[in-house]
Amino acid sequence: MSTCVVTGGAGFLGSHLCELLLERGHRVICVDNLETGSLENIDHLRSGEFTFTNHDITEFVAIDEPVEFVYHLASPASPIDYQRLPLQTLKVGSYGTHHMLGVAKSKRARFLLASTSEIYGDPEIHPQPEDYWGNVNPIGPRGVYDEAKRYAEAMTMAYHRQQGVNTCISRTFNSYGARMRPHDGRAIPTFMRQALQDKPLTVFGDGSQTRSFCYVDDQVRGLVALAESDAHLPINIGNPDEYTLLQLAETVIEVAGSRSEIVFEALPVDDPKVRQPDISKARELLGWEPEVELRDGLRRTIEEAGVERLVGQAS
Ligand code: NAD
Repeated sequence: MSTCVVTGGAGFLGSHLCELLLERGHRVICVDNLETGSLENIDHLRSGEFTFTNHDITEFVAIDEPVEFVYHLASPASPIDYQRLPLQTLKVGSYGTHHMLGVAKSKRARFLLASTSEIYGDPEIHPQPEDYWGNVNPIGPRGVYDEAKRYAEAMTMAYHRQQGVNTCISRTFNSYGARMRPHDGRAIPTFMRQALQDKPLTVFGDGSQTRSFCYVDDQVRGLVALAESDAHLPINIGNPDEYTLLQLAETVIEVAGSRSEIVFEALPVDDPKVRQPDISKARELLGWEPEVELRDGLRRTIEEAGVERLVGQAS
């Protein structure tokens, strides 16, 4: 049994990660300031092996017990959130990552940074391998998030190379499942909310831009496999099945049994045209690959979350 600190543990991915770690017999210390997460996401986890600390990790973090793993997930993550919280997003990527690397260093713990496919920006290479450096607009509306994560990666490698901290970096691609917030602006929760109410699905542009969607159980299994490996360089964790946004909208309508139509809206600034992970490294070094295909994952999301929660009407 190990003790694992999970920053952002009350968020969407973090709460599923806490759940998996507890299932595998670990102790979990969840550190979250509830900026975009909620106590509701972790209510079912309260037990002797789970501790919640309400703390903003841009401030110094003290942990008074031995720790073997630090999973650093805290950060606003959806465009709506990081554009509302631009300075906090930059601070959590810089000061927050610095504080959590400090915890890992003092405890001699393995540190995992949850980075993102957004560090590839609007990619010129397809699919994206880890040695692609990216095409990011630093001063556009997405820059605060993309650059915070790029800086966090640079800091993680510096702590590894210069301070000898045992670090790893996941390049997480779009993930989905229960506990996504219906109004967080990301494609799957938005389409689900609209389809389950028979309202028009709003596709940006002509819907020909592509994304790859990883079911949350696969994603958090990948994060744990990475943390438990001896890899130090970034590894893509995502599902390589690629869909256009139009295909995604049609699939959500089909799975939800909806009568919704599809309407088209203006494309956001710097919206990436394609996004597909090359997961050869994850397969080879972690023995990991996703198992849940999109239709199945969407069905499981509806079953687990329930329609009321997905449309934002749950109490
Ligand atoms: P989320 O918004 O649901 O979770 C983020 C959590 O971090 C929230 O609980 C929030 O309250 C917490 N947090 C934010 N700032 C904090 C601070 N200063 N101190 C303490 N806690 C703080 O987002 P998510 O989708 O679960 O994403 C989790 C991580 O995974 C993020 O780092 C994100 O960049 C990364 N990621 C997610 C996806 C995805 O598809 N969900 C894709 C790529 C990368």
